[in-house]
Amino acid sequence: MLGFLGIIKLENMQLEGFFFYLLSGYFAGSVLHYLAAKILGPILFGRGFCGWACWTAMALDFLPYKRNKAGRLTEKWELLRYVHFGFSLLLVLLFWFVIQYRPIPMSKLELAWLAAGNTFYFVSAFFLAFMLKDNRAFCKYLCPITVILKVTSRFAFLKIEGSKENCSQCGACTKACPMDINVMEYVMNGERVLSTECIFCLTCTTVCPEAILDDTFKMDIGGNERIRRIDPGITN
Ligand code: SF4
Ligand code: SF4
Ligand code: SF4
Repeated sequence: MLGFLGIIKLENMQLEGFFFYLLSGYFAGSVLHYLAAKILGPILFGRGFCGWACWTAMALDFLPYKRNKAGRLTEKWELLRYVHFGFSLLLVLLFWFVIQYRPIPMSKLELAWLAAGNTFYFVSAFFLAFMLKDNRAFCKYLCPITVILKVTSRFAFLKIEGSKENCSQCGACTKACPMDINVMEYVMNGERVLSTECIFCLTCTTVCPEAILDDTFKMDIGGNERIRRIDPGITN
């Protein structure tokens, strides 16, 4: 998709490209991609795109820190992704209204934007992964796409669920979760995993020694975040 839409069709698949095409009223392939993977799709399958299809995360998965042993930084660090999202939007508005840049028809400039944006994502993602010893640090603190994903994935029909009665409280699911979600706490509270940080990677289901975690298809509203943070006393 990146090769076909980005390189052959010259579409800017970065978030800024999506904003540009919305302003243009142009239904580009990348708009369809955003709708399917990041806006409407998550109502069905949550953040499955993050767990299975994101090309940034594909590279991050090769790094050595699949499991973040320390826990997540405090919530204020997560504000960085909102700053990043706001910066992308402002940049587009500046180009559109002040510089009068209109990306239709597509040109090589779109390809340059895509390359520069992707380079920034990869460099910052690798830097954060090595600094924090956490492959998914970029996803947790800096990725602007999460701003959209966290809204729509609240309503996901597919979520992880476990049976409280059969849980041995070993904590293996929580320790293995690459997004630092306190899975065991959800199970013990009789809730599905309602966190909008869940990327539906299914790692927790594979490590549970009792095999009681599974994906279920139901209706509920997520957003109740139970996150394992560096200070074990802080959960929200
Ligand atoms: S949070 Fe961003 S970088 Fe991480 S997997 Fe999702 S879309 Fe990709
Ligand atoms: S390990 Fe489980 S709770 Fe954590 S992100 Fe993957 S599916 Fe979601
Ligand atoms: S891994 Fe399974 S048994 Fe262990 S705490 Fe998690 S849900 Fe319970």
